[in-house]
Amino acid sequence: MALSMVLAASLSLAVFFILFILEACSKREFHLILFALGFGAGTLGFMLLTDQAGLPVWLGLLVANVLIFFFHIAMSWGLRSWAGLGRSWIVRYTVLLAVATVALIAGILLQNLVWRVTAMSGGIILVMLGVLRDLRLRQRPVSTSIVVAVRILVGATILFHAIRISQAVGFLGLSSTYNPFSEFSATLILILTMLWGGILLIADADALYLELRRSHVQMAKNATTDALTGISNRRALEDRALYEIKRAERYDSPLCGILIDIDHFKVINDELGHLSGDEVLKEVCAAISSSLRSTDQLFRWGGEEFFVIAPETPQTGAQNLAEKIRRRVESIVSSCQRPLTVSLGVALWERQEDLPLWLERADKALYLAKNRGRNRVALDNPPRSSWLENTIQWHSEWNSGNAVIDEEHRQLIANADVIRTLAAQDGTQGQIAHLLEQITQEIKLHFQHEEGIMRVKAYPELPQHAEAHRRLLLKSDEVIQGLKSGQLGPLEAYTFLMSELLIGHILTVDTRFFPYLQL
Ligand code: GH3
Ligand code: MG
Ligand code: MG
Repeated sequence: MALSMVLAASLSLAVFFILFILEACSKREFHLILFALGFGAGTLGFMLLTDQAGLPVWLGLLVANVLIFFFHIAMSWGLRSWAGLGRSWIVRYTVLLAVATVALIAGILLQNLVWRVTAMSGGIILVMLGVLRDLRLRQRPVSTSIVVAVRILVGATILFHAIRISQAVGFLGLSSTYNPFSEFSATLILILTMLWGGILLIADADALYLELRRSHVQMAKNATTDALTGISNRRALEDRALYEIKRAERYDSPLCGILIDIDHFKVINDELGHLSGDEVLKEVCAAISSSLRSTDQLFRWGGEEFFVIAPETPQTGAQNLAEKIRRRVESIVSSCQRPLTVSLGVALWERQEDLPLWLERADKALYLAKNRGRNRVALDNPPRSSWLENTIQWHSEWNSGNAVIDEEHRQLIANADVIRTLAAQDGTQGQIAHLLEQITQEIKLHFQHEEGIMRVKAYPELPQHAEAHRRLLLKSDEVIQGLKSGQLGPLEAYTFLMSELLIGHILTVDTRFFPYLQL
């Protein structure tokens, strides 16, 4: 029974020998060759234990023991190479094998069982301790579960051989008549050899799996990274933009895109060479990156163009961000000793708009910025229908109670709507500027009336309120100039009237004064 188990161990080693030979032939890796040699030696060793093959007993026993010892050395050496620690232990392993062989010869010739078992099992324990050390020092990524499995296996092998030595020397009350063919020993040998083969096969597959995964991650990274600047490329932009569009749609949040193009970049390339051009690209990229929040993402759109996705950002926020980028690039002290500037096009993503359309609008805005003289930010007006079709009317709850103020407020709203109508009818920027100039005169008069009433009512916040009026008038002048120079469009004029004058002032700041009108 026990003898057949030793034979079974030998056969299981033979199966793993064949498997590792096949693996080694296809992959030609050092550790696989060692495992194949180890299992080959183990197979012969255990066979010789059961059948002397016509050899004198002492010689058969010696060869069997040396082969089994070599099996353990091959496992340890193979694992060392598998763990990425190189092949440098050839001298150490050869010396160990030689010393064990001499000790075995002495033990066998002197028929000293303690000597023989201690030489064999003691040597194997030393080899196994080496494996534990190598696992700790491993240089290549290995799955933790595999490391744990190998450690447990090595621990079990050490325990088995420690028990063998104890049995041989009669230590700890164990039997002093050690019999390698006892059912207990043979069963343990069978289990251990099968585990060695199985776990090493899994370990090898694990190494391959991790390598494949690593190269897959690397390839995916390469496919989405721009080699020159190290930022994400256009392909990554498309994936990310689609995701952000879905998110903005789902949570109804604002989403902006900024397309950035280096001004007169071709001149730098032509005059200073392509390598200097590359350096400039990296410098501009770093300047843009340093202007962004962690939630914004920068992509190289192609050539000397970059794209920023700014989630949760309304148009004015994106405009500010674009202006910040513009200023930061302008302040670069470049290695090429030339001033650097960029033009930027901002486009707020519109509900239900697809990605190509959104990008096209950012491109249109960039084109505007280039046309208006470069080194500036331009916005793309969202599709006209969304704001041109919504008339704005006075609501009774906006009444202050003072007839003069209410009438003038109502007139202001009506005037804003005239601008909207003119823009809807494709009025030019010049016409809108002219209209806004007239409206601004009315606003100025209205502010004077309002401040007069506030003085009469001794409104304590009058100085701050008058300052707010002054700033609004200044801003109105700026918008008029912007319209005249072509830097601002009808939407900006309308947005100024609606968001800064109506919402930002009349419906908020003015309402604080309304209670004083009742006094
Ligand atoms: P504009 O102000 O109108 O944008 O003028 P520009 O010269 O920047 O624009 P244009 O599109 O004519 O030139 C872009 C140049 O960018 C042409 C191309 O050779 C160069 N370019 C594109 N990719 C790279 C790159 O990776 N490295 C370098 N050095 N140059 C590049
Ligand atoms: Mg370009
Ligand atoms: Mg350019």
